[in-house]
Amino acid sequence: MQQLTKMQQRYFAKDEAAMEYFGAQLLLAMQHQGVVYLAGDLGMGKTTLSRGVIRAAGHQGNVKSPTYTLVEPYEQEGGTIYHFDLYRLMDPEELEYMGIRDYFSDTSLCLVEWPDKGEGLLPEADLLVTLEVQAQGRVIIWEAHTQKGRVAADNLNKQLLLQ
Ligand code: ADP
Ligand code: MG
Repeated sequence: MQQLTKMQQRYFAKDEAAMEYFGAQLLLAMQHQGVVYLAGDLGMGKTTLSRGVIRAAGHQGNVKSPTYTLVEPYEQEGGTIYHFDLYRLMDPEELEYMGIRDYFSDTSLCLVEWPDKGEGLLPEADLLVTLEVQAQGRVIIWEAHTQKGRVAADNLNKQLLLQ
């Protein structure tokens, strides 16, 4: 079991709908709580994946990339989801002024686009999710960095096998 959970897992999302579907599975696997880093270049689908998570949690409106506000909260029944986009963050210290610690709690799920920009001030990821282009779609690769992340990775494997 240990060996299996240490492995990088992957899923091929052939289009935008498949990316949102994966987001819904991720929400379930994380049980609405924890820290997920979303890595990958511009245009890889980080915001699309986030939209899948946020919609699956019950949000019915738009999900835009919080490029200028850096973070957008979504208060849902299962807990609050904070969607970060740190692309425009100049200095990780800015996160201190935002009161970054208040966002990360036992009752929140944090999705972080461009986590590298917040290095040193962001809490560690439970799960690191990386997106890459493959053919017309995207390959999604995930890796657990904590015990919680290992549970989530196991959940994802089971859920995606059962689809
Ligand atoms: P990012 O937030 O990483 O910059 P976006 O989520 O804004 O990327 O998506 C960029 C583009 O990629 C959008 O046009 C979106 O429809 C498309 N896209 C997202 N996921 C997929 C996928 N699995 N396959 C093909 N295109 C996708
Ligand atoms: Mg984005």
